[in-house]
Amino acid sequence: MKALRTGLVRAMPILLAGLVAGLMPAGLAAQTIVLTNVNIIDGNGGPVQEDMTIVISGERIASITQGPYESSDAGDGAEVHDLDGAWVLPGFWNMHAHLSVMFPDNPALAGERMPSKVIRAGLNSIDGLRHGFTSVRSVGEEDYIDVAWQQAFDHGFFLGPRVFASGAPVSPTAGHRGYVEEGADGVAAIRKEVRRRVQKGARVIKLFSVEMLPDELETAVQTAHSLGVHVTSHVREPGAYAAVKAGVDCLEHGYGLTDETIELMAEKGTFYTPTIICNLSAGYIAEREARLAELGYAEDEEIVRLRTMVAFADERSPEFALEQRQILAKAAKAGVKLLIGSDSMPVGEMGFLEMEQFVLSGVSEMDTIIAATRNAAEVQGVLGDLGTVEEGKLADLVVLGANPLENISNIRETLMVLKGGVMVDLDAQLGTSTYWDYYGSMELPEGFLAESEEAAGFQRGNTATDQ
Ligand SMILES: [Zn+2]
Repeated sequence: MKALRTGLVRAMPILLAGLVAGLMPAGLAAQTIVLTNVNIIDGNGGPVQEDMTIVISGERIASITQGPYESSDAGDGAEVHDLDGAWVLPGFWNMHAHLSVMFPDNPALAGERMPSKVIRAGLNSIDGLRHGFTSVRSVGEEDYIDVAWQQAFDHGFFLGPRVFASGAPVSPTAGHRGYVEEGADGVAAIRKEVRRRVQKGARVIKLFSVEMLPDELETAVQTAHSLGVHVTSHVREPGAYAAVKAGVDCLEHGYGLTDETIELMAEKGTFYTPTIICNLSAGYIAEREARLAELGYAEDEEIVRLRTMVAFADERSPEFALEQRQILAKAAKAGVKLLIGSDSMPVGEMGFLEMEQFVLSGVSEMDTIIAATRNAAEVQGVLGDLGTVEEGKLADLVVLGANPLENISNIRETLMVLKGGVMVDLDAQLGTSTYWDYYGSMELPEGFLAESEEAAGFQRGNTATDQ
């Protein structure tokens, strides 16, 4: 917990921190919650533990035992939930999230001012928690919007996920294929940018490293590591190999990763967030919707339309999308440690779609769950407190009504979400509109889908070429 609190203490006056602690409802921290008659998928990859009882005392898991609950285990005041064989997992992590950045650009939000962005970022985060994403790593946000929410949730001003914020990416001028107007050039400038972010509360450094020279890249990694913060980079080949070699802890996207790079990642223990969902072509969207329908997850037509729109944000050819899925499969086979990250938002729904894409790409359900839980806590350096269901850890848990090892889409069968032992009220209304209403206001240009599919060489209804 100490590691999690570091940024908080640094950023807030001690007096205020004390005041916030005093605002916690008196019984909250001492609350005992019992989840009994559950099956545990602990995030470590071992066999399912059947017929278990979990006692949560305050924010942590006090005990995990087999068999029914005995009231002497936790005392009389405990809140006991007999869950009738439900599945308990560690809370999920979306490791490539943007809280306010929206793809594609929403014309309805042209000229949007900062206060509005901040509100959207918070709504997106809270929506993510309600989907079971108890942690979110933000890898690119302007003006430290993500750090602001990280601190707001840490303080308990709102009940949201644990945010691990990066602030804006560190990039050289013309980084991200020329997109960055004014970047940090040279060793001293890079060092300063990294230090400044950590000073402001960042818990991860995001790089656009492809355009960096070797000394800049090494400086970024060294400086972040000296401050106890890990580094992840948006990469494509050529350039990914150099990032791994320089000691970057994690790669985002990894467009066109070569076998040589994958091998080096496995050797060095470099993590990989493939963000399959943001590279879907029309073919994959069709495949995904067909698969979901087959599994009985009928969605509202409007939702399907809207998330199709989101997935088209970064439209690629079917060949490109297929190549990325093959890279994911290769990386999994080579033993590279994988992470779930959607890039597209909202972080909850898109996080689910990314987990489904893992399985559709050949990763097992169990390895997908490990990618969404344990691996994420490990790269973030908080595995001692989070990432698995074990005694002594913080009670960030998801309870599902059906077995996700039988069908990964059962991650949608959310019965309960707990964050630090606090039960998230899934029935409470956040507002009268949903997150998707932001997308609903978007008008696609005439013929957008048709042109896009034609450009991609994809015929609707023909997903066979994508397999
Ligand atoms: Zn991104």
